[in-house]
Amino acid sequence: MLTNRDVNQFVLLFQFMKHGTNTPSTTTSNRGYAAIAEARTVLEHELETIRTGGTWKGERIITSKQGPRINVDGSHGDILNFCANNYLGLSSHPQVVEAGIEALKKYGAGLSSVRFICGTQDIHKDLEQKLAQFHEREDCILYASCFDANAGLFEVLLGPDDAVLSDELNHASIIDGIRLCRAKRFRYKHMDLNDLETQLKESQSSRLRLVVTDGVFSMDGDMAPLKGICDLAEKYGAMVFIDECHATGFMGPRGRGTDELLGVMDRVHIVNSTLGKALGGAAGGYTVGPKPLIDLLRQRSRPYLFSNSLPPPVVGCATRAVELLLASNEIAQSVGDKTMRFRNKMTEAGFTISGSDHPICPVMLGDARLASLMADDMLKLGVYVIGFSYPVVPKGKARIRVQISAAHTDQDIDRAVDAFIQTGRKHGVVS
Ligand code: PLP
Repeated sequence: MLTNRDVNQFVLLFQFMKHGTNTPSTTTSNRGYAAIAEARTVLEHELETIRTGGTWKGERIITSKQGPRINVDGSHGDILNFCANNYLGLSSHPQVVEAGIEALKKYGAGLSSVRFICGTQDIHKDLEQKLAQFHEREDCILYASCFDANAGLFEVLLGPDDAVLSDELNHASIIDGIRLCRAKRFRYKHMDLNDLETQLKESQSSRLRLVVTDGVFSMDGDMAPLKGICDLAEKYGAMVFIDECHATGFMGPRGRGTDELLGVMDRVHIVNSTLGKALGGAAGGYTVGPKPLIDLLRQRSRPYLFSNSLPPPVVGCATRAVELLLASNEIAQSVGDKTMRFRNKMTEAGFTISGSDHPICPVMLGDARLASLMADDMLKLGVYVIGFSYPVVPKGKARIRVQISAAHTDQDIDRAVDAFIQTGRKHGVVS
């Protein structure tokens, strides 16, 4: 078999035959070649470190639609899926799929444009209006993802005279978004109101201040203490922002989110969320909040200004998902019962499940290799779950993150628990 080195030698020989030895282009291309060869060595070394550290993230290939039962390449029959953010089972809901097809037929595959040039259709405006209504906020702006919404917000809202106070475990996209802005940065300990108060006192001289938190933290399934955060923000004259990616559509009596559940919808000023999880699961993100903020984001937010408009089928699917939730909270309600069934049965069996009563149920294992081996064994038993390890979670806190969906039946949940018990016994996690 040819090694990299053999290939390199061949390329050098080819260059020599093509250009001779003394032409400037040969020297230049040889240098270019040497540069990429060196980069290759550095990259291979880095990849090997990840492999030997047991934190390699492989990708299993799904050969069916997203849903509670899927087909996975290399496994036989229907596999029970417990690792999608498909909290409401809307990713392959017939009405959602149909709406996507209708939008595709009527509005085409895509816009070939950013919003302000020729990328705004009536369906984009309609979805923005519905999302603002859903969250009971003044206005809404769509992005290609919530990662983009988080990347595009802080730089526009906050300048060097302002301050941002951020939970230390906020999502990577919030951390990146904050890095892009020039406000002074204060990081408070995870969900620690005392520490937040200390930082609010320290940042008192700033012009605007924004407290930034995930509503629900995706790795642990724990919920931000929003009431306490709003109390403090009001005491010290700060605004509050939440990322509701793991709450929109199913937390709270009407599925409006963590802010609804904790009774602070009118005290949280800005919400970012995704269309890529509970709301149909295709893609897309958005910001809802005060109208002048949304107007300014349309003028200045870089991921909005310099990236393509959301494709019509994606808009069609998300719009139908929001319409279903505006019409009834029935689907949203059913996730809670199923979550409690899983959490209770797993705890009885001796597993440690982290987080509050959220459909994200992290089965804590500690060791990265153990998490990955157990996930592989679960797949052999027909249950698809994934081990999470560093850098997605802190070192020594590896886990299998189970996510419950409204589309799971009680029998699905019991089957997953049985598979956990069998695999857990094999690896000495439970007796
Ligand atoms: N914020 C949080 C808390 C998330 O969990 C995610 C997705 O993993 C994002 C933002 C990014 O969302 P999107 O997939 O729409 O970019």
